[in-house]
Order: sequence, then C-alpha cells, then structure tokens
Amino acid sequence: MQRKAQPVIKALITGILLIAVTTVMSLAQVRTTASPQKPLKVFVSVDMEGIWGVVHGNQCSADSPEYQLARKWMVEDVNAVVKGLFEAGATEVVVNDSHGSMRNIIASDLDPRAQLISGSPKPLSMMEGIDSTFQACVFVGYHARAGSAPAILDHTISGAAIFAIKINGIEMPELGINAAIAGYYQVPVVLLTGDTETCRQAQELLGKDLIVVPVKEAVNRFAARNFAREKVLNDLREGAKKALSSVGIIKPYVLQPPYQFEIDFHHSNQAELGLLIPGVRRPSPRTLVFNTQDYLEGFKLMRALIALASVS
Ligand SMILES: [Zn+2]
Repeated sequence: MQRKAQPVIKALITGILLIAVTTVMSLAQVRTTASPQKPLKVFVSVDMEGIWGVVHGNQCSADSPEYQLARKWMVEDVNAVVKGLFEAGATEVVVNDSHGSMRNIIASDLDPRAQLISGSPKPLSMMEGIDSTFQACVFVGYHARAGSAPAILDHTISGAAIFAIKINGIEMPELGINAAIAGYYQVPVVLLTGDTETCRQAQELLGKDLIVVPVKEAVNRFAARNFAREKVLNDLREGAKKALSSVGIIKPYVLQPPYQFEIDFHHSNQAELGLLIPGVRRPSPRTLVFNTQDYLEGFKLMRALIALASVS
C-alpha cells in the first residue's frame, strides 16, 4: 500500500509546492503595487489649565512672570503627544492653541512636523480648523467643568460669566461642547489629557474606551500633586500611540437635533443684552435659553451670548 502510493504523494507535494510559490509571488506583487499610506489626519486642541505643572490662574495669564514657564510646559506636553501620534502613523497633525489669547505656544517650539493654528478670535474657537477630513481628535491640557471639585481651575468657557452650560439637558464641560463639534464632522475624540477629575468627566461623557492621560491630581482648585515629569511625558507619548490604534473603534460624540442650549450666568445683569437676539428666552433672571436645529449655529450663538455677558 505504501509503495504504490508514493508517486501519487510526490505529485501531490509538487502540486502543493507550486501553489505555495504562486501564492507567495502574487502576495509580493500585491505588496509592491499597494497604494500609498492612507491619510491619518489628527486635530489637536490644547488648553492650558490641564497642563502638567499648572495649578493657578497666574500661570495661565500673560501678564504674570510665572506664565513663561507654564507655556514651556504646555508645548512640552503637546510635543510628547505629537511625537506619539506620528510614531503611530499620523500623516498630518494640526495643533490649535485654545487658551486665552490663543498665542501661548511659541510657534518655533512646536514639533516642526505639526501645523499650528495660533491667535484669536476664531469662529470655532478651541475647535477652529477641524473638518470632516480628519480621522481623529485629541484634547490636551483640558480642565473640568465649572463646579467640579477637587479640580484645577474648573470653569466652563468663562470663569467670570458662566455658572453652568447645559445642552439638551446635559451639563457640559468644555470637552463635551467641543467633542460635539468634532462629532458634527464625524470625527471621534480618541485622547484627553488633564487632571484626574477631568479625565473622569471625559470618560463619563465620551465613554470608557476613550484613552485618558492624567498629568496631576488636584488637592483643590489651586493645588495639585503633579505626577513625575519623566513618567508624564512618556505616558503622553504612549497614550497618543494607543489612542490612534482606537481610530475606527471609538464612535464620534454626536448630539442629536433639535438642540436646546441653556446658559446659566453668575449674575442677572450678564443675561440682559442676550435678550436683544431674536429667539433667545430668559426663563429665570440669570438664565438664557434658545433652540436650534444646527449644532454649529447653536455653538456660535452661545459664544455670542457669553461675549455679550461681559459688556452687560
Ligand atoms: Zn483655558
């Protein structure tokens, strides 16, 4: 039985070898004729209160001598993230300076592979520059919503004017308001960095799959334990790499229309001038409410109402 079967086995082995060689050759051909790397554009919005080392408003204000150090830490945090993004395959990174004057990052200090959107005002403010050509969005140095504790420099857009902002009944931190802008363009937020409370709020709102990198733990509003610098910079870089691998898994944060925006100010006078705008209602002395079908329109009207609060 065994001897008679030998020629058949030989023929079978030759056949299998031929098929294997042909398959390897065709695979090699596919590899050499494969299309160039798919674009992987990443939008990075950078605030300052959630940067490593920052614990007080003086460090975030250009008129304080402490500011120069904090802006150095800011670009260091950003560069660690940008490095991780490029290592993970990003083809383009756009960084939007999103704090105060929005001229905190010294352009020549940023990783030279990244683009920088600098200055203000900008129509989409902290999200200026994002559109549907991006595959991922990252928030660096973000802070918790107004009324959080313990959380470094908690506020929502304007510490002087805003007690709370609700959109469709959800009390929003800036990270939520901005994530919904990214969601408007179908772009998922894949990474957030800031203090531990901000990271908690981000995962609560955007989901547990969101990669977060805590850089400090607040003791109260103006004091924090900053984690070891070397570990933080490494965590930021590794976090960015890990976050890009979740592109396609994390869904964009999309709020469904119709949208109701509710803005609670600290004082009744801050709601006065907003009433000049058609469609804006004042259900209580400190509160303005309006409805819209378009999220970006709502975001812009909200910004205008907050600007009016400062001159009321
Ligand atoms: Zn800020």
